[in-house]
Amino acid sequence: MASLDLQDISKRYSNLAAVDTLSLSIADGELVCLLGPSGSGKSTLLRMIGGFEIPSSGKILIDGVDVAPVPPDKRPTAMVFQSHALWTHMNVWENIAFGLKLRKFSRDEVAAKIARVMELVGLTGYEKRHPSQLSGGQQQRVAIARSIVLEPKILLLDEPFASLDQHLREHLREEVRQIQRQLGITTIFVTHGQDEALALADRIVVMSKGKIEQVGTPDEIYARPQTEFVAGFIGVMNLVSATVSGGSLAFAGEALSAPVADGLATLAIRPEDWKVGEGAGLKATVTRTVNLGAYVLADVALPDGTTVKVHLDKARAVREGDPIEIGIGPFALYRDNMVIHRS
Ligand code: ADP
Repeated sequence: MASLDLQDISKRYSNLAAVDTLSLSIADGELVCLLGPSGSGKSTLLRMIGGFEIPSSGKILIDGVDVAPVPPDKRPTAMVFQSHALWTHMNVWENIAFGLKLRKFSRDEVAAKIARVMELVGLTGYEKRHPSQLSGGQQQRVAIARSIVLEPKILLLDEPFASLDQHLREHLREEVRQIQRQLGITTIFVTHGQDEALALADRIVVMSKGKIEQVGTPDEIYARPQTEFVAGFIGVMNLVSATVSGGSLAFAGEALSAPVADGLATLAIRPEDWKVGEGAGLKATVTRTVNLGAYVLADVALPDGTTVKVHLDKARAVREGDPIEIGIGPFALYRDNMVIHRS
């Protein structure tokens, strides 16, 4: 319904750049997750898009139009906050109708629009309930209905399910995905949960310290993290320090080609990317196992004393203390601002 262009956006609070010269383009109908640790600037960025914060510098364009002079309630955006902030003295119907009445639709139009969003969020029949008579998940559904009934061009969600339990969160994010697809609405979803981002997003924007670390599809972000920060932040990753010397590095008895400058580098290996079994290379010892259902996540001590995490097939039936042979498979190498991926 709308494209969004952020051009060199910054937000400074005295000495701190909460968002630091950040540029990003989001296509019409995309669902983008802003993902990063607490304090990385996600909410500040979202609030600037919604008009609740004024950028210190930079431009926000919606469908090519600079929205700087437009106040939040006049922007083609709608925001859903972490705490649902429903009006407790109004029932569900009245909560959803409130914004529509301000926009002067006829009574019939209001009724039709509300009926449609109530169906979209699966709450038909709950119109007369008060927020206190709803579960946390239902309250958040009402908050989403209240936002989308205004037919915004861009839907902004700030950790909308953070206060709900894991199971409900997973359920609701699937609902959001379906509603977003049905309406084709450009959506920006802030989360610090990588699972949520990997499950929901067309593209993930990984943020740290007010800057973008990487933008990519969930597959790209997981398989080819471009920075050491992303490598460590997304999924389980073994990060091992290694010294590069003369274009190669020694890791646990193997010399790996490393065409980067000499010095300390970081080797990143996913637990599922080790070769395991006879002839794999390194004679190691299993020191701990965690049964994760489909597979076993094992701590494995290498001959040099380094402990790494390794996915093991359940069929292997290893126990703590067992010997095991592992070898290096696909890996990434980070050195300063460079990354080399080896598959
Ligand atoms: P996130 O959403 O990723 O947790 P925020 O955008 O909330 O991060 O915050 C980014 C940084 O900006 C943090 O260091 C936070 O303390 C700071 N910050 C956010 N809002 C304000 C404010 N109103 N005044 C001062 N500092 C703020």
